[in-house]
Amino acid sequence: MVAGVLVEISHQNVDRIFEYDVPGEMASEIQVGLRVLVPFGKQELEGFVLTLSHQKSTDKELKKVIRIVDSSIVLSQELLDLGVWMQKETLATLISCYQTMLPRALKAKRGTEVSIKYDTYYRLSDSCPQSDLRSTQQRIVDYVKEKGSALRQDLLSISASSLNTLIRNGCLIEEKKEHYRLQYEKQEIVKKTLTPMQQKVVDAVIHGETKPYLLYGVTGSGKTEVYMEIIDYYLKQGKTSIVLVPEISLTPQMVQRFRERFGERIAALHSALSDGEKYDEWRRIYRGEASIVIGARSAVFAPLENIGIIIVDEEHSESYKQTDPSPRYHAKEVALMRAKTHHCSVVFGSATPSLEAMARAQKNVFTYLELPERVNGKSLPIVEIVDMNQAMKKAKGHFSQRLIQEMEQRLENQEQIILLLNRRGYSSFVTCKNCGYTFKCPNCDISLTYHKSSNTLRCHYCGYGEKEYKTCPKCGEKSLNNLGVGTQKIEEELHQILPEARVLRMDYDTTSRKGMHEKMIESFKKQEYDILLGTQMVAKGLDFSQVTLVGILNADTSLNIPDFRSSENTFSLLSQVSGRSGRAQKSGFVILQTFNPDHYAIQYSQKQDYLAFYQAEMKIRRQLKYPPYYYLCNIRVSGGNALLLFDEAMKIKRSLERNLDQVIILGPSSGNLFRINNIFRYQIILKYKSDQALREILWKVVDHYKGNPKVKIDIDFNPSQML
Ligand code: ADP
Ligand code: ZN
Repeated sequence: MVAGVLVEISHQNVDRIFEYDVPGEMASEIQVGLRVLVPFGKQELEGFVLTLSHQKSTDKELKKVIRIVDSSIVLSQELLDLGVWMQKETLATLISCYQTMLPRALKAKRGTEVSIKYDTYYRLSDSCPQSDLRSTQQRIVDYVKEKGSALRQDLLSISASSLNTLIRNGCLIEEKKEHYRLQYEKQEIVKKTLTPMQQKVVDAVIHGETKPYLLYGVTGSGKTEVYMEIIDYYLKQGKTSIVLVPEISLTPQMVQRFRERFGERIAALHSALSDGEKYDEWRRIYRGEASIVIGARSAVFAPLENIGIIIVDEEHSESYKQTDPSPRYHAKEVALMRAKTHHCSVVFGSATPSLEAMARAQKNVFTYLELPERVNGKSLPIVEIVDMNQAMKKAKGHFSQRLIQEMEQRLENQEQIILLLNRRGYSSFVTCKNCGYTFKCPNCDISLTYHKSSNTLRCHYCGYGEKEYKTCPKCGEKSLNNLGVGTQKIEEELHQILPEARVLRMDYDTTSRKGMHEKMIESFKKQEYDILLGTQMVAKGLDFSQVTLVGILNADTSLNIPDFRSSENTFSLLSQVSGRSGRAQKSGFVILQTFNPDHYAIQYSQKQDYLAFYQAEMKIRRQLKYPPYYYLCNIRVSGGNALLLFDEAMKIKRSLERNLDQVIILGPSSGNLFRINNIFRYQIILKYKSDQALREILWKVVDHYKGNPKVKIDIDFNPSQML
């Protein structure tokens, strides 16, 4: 038999099937979708079996498969086909598409082995005299008899010596059973009666056409309950579900709610799990022990069969797009593709749908559903804008008088506060007030960030660091100004302004330790703190009943990033964080501090009028030929020699101009990330309406440069960020 194997090296040069001879003793075991170890040049590599046939396609002598790695397949035929589609969509290597689908432990890659853990159990042997034993031995035998098969630890706690005697006498037989690293406690099942509006949405999805749905539901409208009800329906039909959530930071509360309702039927896949835990969860899914998978982007590849529904929560989130490394896939598109294969619907939910999704809904590609009100008829919080151009004079640090007043009142009433420090696209860079000198990384050309703990300036891209300067190296003045502000600084200010307040700071530093994030959420929920201060992390998904005030310290930073989505992202962030306020009985209030009180994204955030924002933003997108009117594609050309690179980028541009007439071609330009770690990059941006010939032509470009050590081409369709 001949096996066609795709090996673990992700390089265009070897991204194809190589044939190997399958030794006779392996013939009965080998299957498409298994990993095998094969000789490759002078090395031994792992790879996936993609084809099996009885004939080789060359006259050459084939090398032999060394061994089979897995006892059951890791890639089903569905996922194998999906990989081929992804490869065409993203122009990545096929092997990288397959590797992306699997947890680390199952990637075809040597050195990624993760062990399966086992528990030891005992059962009675036929020769075991079941009565008239010494008392502790009798207790053990009775216990095993009752259980059928008993855990070693439990028997040890009865009597270690009696256990050993029984084992030695052949009375007990040892069995190994897999032990999953994550153990779930059962919780009582809480189920809410849906409101008529929620029920209407559920009915539309489960009884309606099999197609994609866009659910626009304001914050606190009960989308999560709707998702659970839909999933429950499919569960009862014996079908499985996937729920995608943007980031790990969103997952704990959501996962908890799902667990309360569905218990062990849930598997959670997210980046905070260890490799072993992920592997265990993957096996539970694969074996059908878990039928509801919740996770971030890559959970869309969960090895489920018979999928009944796919839910994409917070569908507007950029995190569904993988930017680096390739394959630069979009989890929403993958979800649509899997749904097609499984003949199931997809629900895209959001309080601030992406313009792309909303535009599809308007064209009826997606069916539009809405939950325009909060459950219990609670109104959305009132948002007050504080114009910082004026308020700055009387402000204490970053806090306006208005915000301080409102905070004091909440503390008095023993209500809770969430403070958002908007750090999107923001760096705490240092400049000279006198001459405007900014510290930049000598390798990367981007601003250095001040790190208080080590008193150094650091580059976030390459890690370059230098000691903090006391004077400006350019003009010698002592007027260096730390323009950016971190959560730590704000925390210090808070302690001065409201010394009695208990402040919980949540950012990437304080939550990096495993389990910290959940702990913080738990203790804030128990009201062990008054104020939750954080970055974007505090904006989404959290549901605390005692929060009645949200303070947005700097609404603008995200408006200033050079990205065509900056208004959309700002609007969505502000709406999300505002939505954390007044979710239960008490009404909510939001203070929005801004230097741009008249900007339309700020204005519509105040009114919390998504539809009006959508209309306004669509006009701008149309004028400037941006999505959803045009598709974008970013071609990145990178290498160590800037001059050569520019020439090559120009060549690419000209050849594209010759071959594509309906496409707008911009660049090559060097963005503000021109140089990273002494690798230079140019980008060419394409804007287009339809992509008939485009992928084929771009594939030729990729193919032309494959193996070229001086020029690297990266292609990103529908990029989530531009340089
Ligand atoms: P969203 O996901 O749209 O922000 P949630 O599903 O988190 O909304 O619901 C907001 C709050 O309302 C949660 O505390 C949730 O438990 C509660 N809730 C949702 N649906 C109902 C219902 N039908 N009856 C009572 N409470 C509900
Ligand atoms: Zn650097």
